[in-house]
Amino acid sequence: MNNQHNFNKVDVAITEHGKKLPIVESFYSIQGEGFHTGKAAYFIRIGGCDIACHWCDSKVSWNASIHPLMRIEEIAENVLATPARSVVVTGGEPALYNLEPLSNIIRENQIANFLETSGAYAIKGKWDWICVSPKHNKEPLIINLQRANELKVVVFDEGDFAFAERWKDYVPENCQLFLQPEFSQFEKMAPKIVDFVKAFPQWNVSLQSHKYLDIP
Ligand code: SF4
Repeated sequence: MNNQHNFNKVDVAITEHGKKLPIVESFYSIQGEGFHTGKAAYFIRIGGCDIACHWCDSKVSWNASIHPLMRIEEIAENVLATPARSVVVTGGEPALYNLEPLSNIIRENQIANFLETSGAYAIKGKWDWICVSPKHNKEPLIINLQRANELKVVVFDEGDFAFAERWKDYVPENCQLFLQPEFSQFEKMAPKIVDFVKAFPQWNVSLQSHKYLDIP
């Protein structure tokens, strides 16, 4: 693990309690996975994560201190410069920070706000859609699972089916359930996911379609 991958959350005082956030990247693209697959959305990737999934495809986001702090007003201006009708806030682990100011400014501009989180930290702010993607290294808080619109479990190996089943009892009845093959394990796990979803049809298959479309 090199230094770039060390966890380093930006101090709460420096973020002015969520009015400034470390931004890894932001861009207008197509949602590639989960319930909103195929819909255009503006993505905001926030830096900082201490969960350290070994298969993480966003390790550059772990160390928040290497990413520039941006004011939420500037972030909102960038969103408004595009035709985006929804914003996906992802990471890293965005819930490390107070997301209330960011969630508010997005909604005040009549744009839907969607959150992608491991659920390991208390979620602040009002969200139109919360996707909780539980991770082994730091399990999700039950209070977050109770707010989930979508439960999305990345399947790296067979053990992840039982891991997924463990969390589904905590989410609301209308929560959308997804199993998504970890990209490097696609060939091995995709057929097993297909069999699992056929046997337990409350689950759905999610694919990282943006990787096939070769878009961010
Ligand atoms: S929670 Fe997400 S960003 Fe953090 S290590 Fe795991 S996959 Fe990567």
